Amino acid sequence: MKKLPKTDVVVIGLGWAGAIIANELADEGLEVVGIERGPWRDTARDFNIGTVTDELRYVMREELMLRTRQNTCTMRNNPSQTALPMRTWGSFHPGNGTGGAGNHWAGITFRFQPEEFRLKSHLTERYGASAIPDELVLQDWGTSWEEMEPHYMQFERVAGTSGYAGNIQGEKRPGGNPFEGARSGDYPTPPLRQPYGPTLFAEAARNMGYQPFPVPSSLVSEAYTNPYGVTMGPCTFCGFCTNYGCANYSKASAITTILPALMRKENFTAYTNSEVLEVLTDSTGRQATGVTYIDSSGDKWEQPADLVIVAAFTFENVRLMLLSGIGKAYDPVTNQGTTGRNYAYQTANNVTLFFDNKNFNPFIGAGAVGMGIDEFNNDNFDHSGLGFFGGGSIRVTPIGSAPIGYRPLPPNTPKWGAKWKRALKDNYLSTMSIGCEASSYTTRTNYLSLDPNYKDPHGRPLLRITFDFAANDLKMAQYCTGKVADIAKSMNPREMIVKPMTGHWSSVPYQSSHVVGGFIMGSDPSTSSVNKHLQVWDVPNLFVVGASAFPQNPGYNPTGTVGALAFKAAHAIRHFYLKRPGEMISA
Ligand SMILES: Cc1cc2nc3c(=O)[nH]c(=O)nc-3n(C[C@H](O)[C@H](O)[C@H](O)COP(=O)(O)OP(=O)(O)OC[C@H]3O[C@@H](n4cnc5c(N)ncnc54)[C@H](O)[C@@H]3O)c2cc1C
Ligand code: SF4
Repeated sequence: MKKLPKTDVVVIGLGWAGAIIANELADEGLEVVGIERGPWRDTARDFNIGTVTDELRYVMREELMLRTRQNTCTMRNNPSQTALPMRTWGSFHPGNGTGGAGNHWAGITFRFQPEEFRLKSHLTERYGASAIPDELVLQDWGTSWEEMEPHYMQFERVAGTSGYAGNIQGEKRPGGNPFEGARSGDYPTPPLRQPYGPTLFAEAARNMGYQPFPVPSSLVSEAYTNPYGVTMGPCTFCGFCTNYGCANYSKASAITTILPALMRKENFTAYTNSEVLEVLTDSTGRQATGVTYIDSSGDKWEQPADLVIVAAFTFENVRLMLLSGIGKAYDPVTNQGTTGRNYAYQTANNVTLFFDNKNFNPFIGAGAVGMGIDEFNNDNFDHSGLGFFGGGSIRVTPIGSAPIGYRPLPPNTPKWGAKWKRALKDNYLSTMSIGCEASSYTTRTNYLSLDPNYKDPHGRPLLRITFDFAANDLKMAQYCTGKVADIAKSMNPREMIVKPMTGHWSSVPYQSSHVVGGFIMGSDPSTSSVNKHLQVWDVPNLFVVGASAFPQNPGYNPTGTVGALAFKAAHAIRHFYLKRPGEMISA
């Protein structure tokens, strides 16, 4: 192992979270080294318009994702089963390379609601402690909306997020989301123009008394220059968006909004194709001293640092902590230990509507254009007597439907042959769907741990996922999808397919890449791993940043909150930690 000169800060992972913190700390004048497992990615070279519109390469063959032969997870539904490795990605799509999963994300950029940050307290106050189902392990975040709001704003300004605010400083605005927390300002760019499907949905929702709003989106609607001086161009609804990089500099990611500025700073260095193997600590275990990593030649290096930031996405954040012996591994039998606890997912539900005589031109679209309603999300409706908590964001977002993957077929279509072909031809243009991206609440037996049987190419245990949907979430899915079906019926389709999440979690079909928890934030070290600044309890110069910090998952996409938490951690380091290194609980 070769040892490099010490640096002020080492950042593991150069996706959204890592790039935000690296840039903030470089602005502070610190020497920052970013270490990224995957290759360097760049819009002009990697996402060129001449080559990026390739569904086979990017969707079917998962070009931008981590290769499972390099690292994967094992999965099981409950602790009595033996977990097996995921040899192809299905359920979720982890990123790899500069920009991380932010290159191929869809761009939907919600803020969580104020109640979410004190979910357990909120539900207890409104319904009483006994109303919360015994299976759920809900938790407050140890922070508040008021503390988060300025950092949501920072993230949206960097990303150029488009939308229409429903609540500015307490003043409600018709046309925006009436359920969002009070914002200090509007979105940086106006909402995207709405295609036909979302327009029809919004009309139907309005007729039923709901308040539809444009889905907030980090695909910019007009030319925009962010606070780092990086310019983005308006989205053209090219339809090659989710699972692809954007050729048009319209989809915000670390590579379109931060790295062009960060790479110009002399006090920042990036190592790519370099996988961090371990976070090192001193003999007390209370001080991180750096990391070890392996480069593409197979050489191992030690990078000493005063400050270590882990921003390697939920799974690898937790795995690195377990492999490095930091924190105590969670044990679902004793309910002791915090590393790995409160793993949660997202509950995906859908209603497909088949029409005659409508043309949605489904090949036109964007990952995050659409209209939504929030009447059945989170605790926006009265849960008294319903027997579950949580809810979902109901919306129509035509992402652009490419020919291999998109095959809208009505019920009872034969699986092959001339009738199958005819049905596909007849329905391709005239089908739309309404999604409901819903909450996932944690249980005691949903957790992350090291697998005792399967190892990566370096001989280190894979991460083991033990997860199944809580009965609470399946009840919620039935209820909310029923509400979606009511709206769909009012749109008079010829036929429809109603698909709430049912049964056990399967790792095979794609559902969502919104995996959260495992190294959660809170105010009590016995039930959380990091404090409200994302600083590891007991190892004050180590910060673990990302959706791994979420104690549960609301019915929203996570990245607005991942970005806000990264800015929040950077703010705490810049304004408190560097002045007085040590624990910052009361800062
Ligand atoms: C298909 C898809 C659609 C999505 N759509 C949305 C959406 O619409 N809205 C939304 O809010 N979210 C969406 N997401 C989720 C979003 O992409 C993530 O929340 C976001 O990318 C998380 O940022 P991050 O920086 O925490 O992690 P990542 O973006 O995953 O970055 C982590 C980086 O760390 C690197 N890394 C990992 N391990 C190591 C190691 N050991 N050593 C060195 N480097 C390492 C990885 O290679 C990666 O580049 C979507 C995700 C996918 C896959
Ligand atoms: S739909 Fe818009 S943001 Fe998405 S890849 Fe195309 S141009 Fe870029």
